[in-house]
Amino acid sequence: MKRLALLMLGSLLCVSQSEAADAVRAPAKATPPPVAYKPVVRPDGRRIVALDIGHTRGQPGAISATGVPEFEFNRRIVSLVKERLAQSKAVEPMVINPDGAPITLTERTRRAALAGAALFVAVHHDSANDKYLQAQQVNGKKQFFTDRFEGYGVFISRKNPEFEKSLALALLVGGELEKNLPFATHHNEAIRGENRPILDSERGIYEYDDLIVLKSALMPAALVECGVIVNREQDLLLRQPAMQKIIADAIAAGIEQYFSAK
Ligand SMILES: [Zn+2]
Repeated sequence: MKRLALLMLGSLLCVSQSEAADAVRAPAKATPPPVAYKPVVRPDGRRIVALDIGHTRGQPGAISATGVPEFEFNRRIVSLVKERLAQSKAVEPMVINPDGAPITLTERTRRAALAGAALFVAVHHDSANDKYLQAQQVNGKKQFFTDRFEGYGVFISRKNPEFEKSLALALLVGGELEKNLPFATHHNEAIRGENRPILDSERGIYEYDDLIVLKSALMPAALVECGVIVNREQDLLLRQPAMQKIIADAIAAGIEQYFSAK
């Protein structure tokens, strides 16, 4: 029962499912093994940014209104962000777990630290509380949707050792995303499993202290929920290359501004 309750509680935010599963399977792994972390600066001055594709092929996170796994949405955005940052004079992008192999959450941030990454940015797509989800048949298969919510959110943790810098990063990324997208405020609802404090409603910043990738990262870290894929209209929109480019360009621009602001 305890396990079931934990998993159900974890289903509210797409990112939490694997976090909850991780916690159940291997609580000892919640603390990353110590690594000698030193941010790398390339001879030309570029800094390494770790781009984390949320979830894996085997545990793909939320499922969209038409049955597309969240992992596929995340992978597409990370690939576009990487493409754009590869042109940057300030940043060298690296992708954590590019093939979607099984990996623990703390291993993701450990790899970023080992690579000397100056920032950690996780990319996810969002779901909604189970109480809002309705069933529909898509190609003969039952899928769940709610058209109630849309938009993005940027999450940071006070337990990250670089909270202030994480906030600075989140404000820049959120400031770019809000130019074209609404802020999805549903994680602020006063219900079990949500209740996430909003730190900046204009730029769409949430506090989520116990997200494992955020609190285990040794460098400033933010997690972006790019859009709500259980919303039927948003599911279609978020699969369009033009919208994917808008989101990826916004994330990349925020990251670049972080370094130029220093
Ligand atoms: Zn997710």
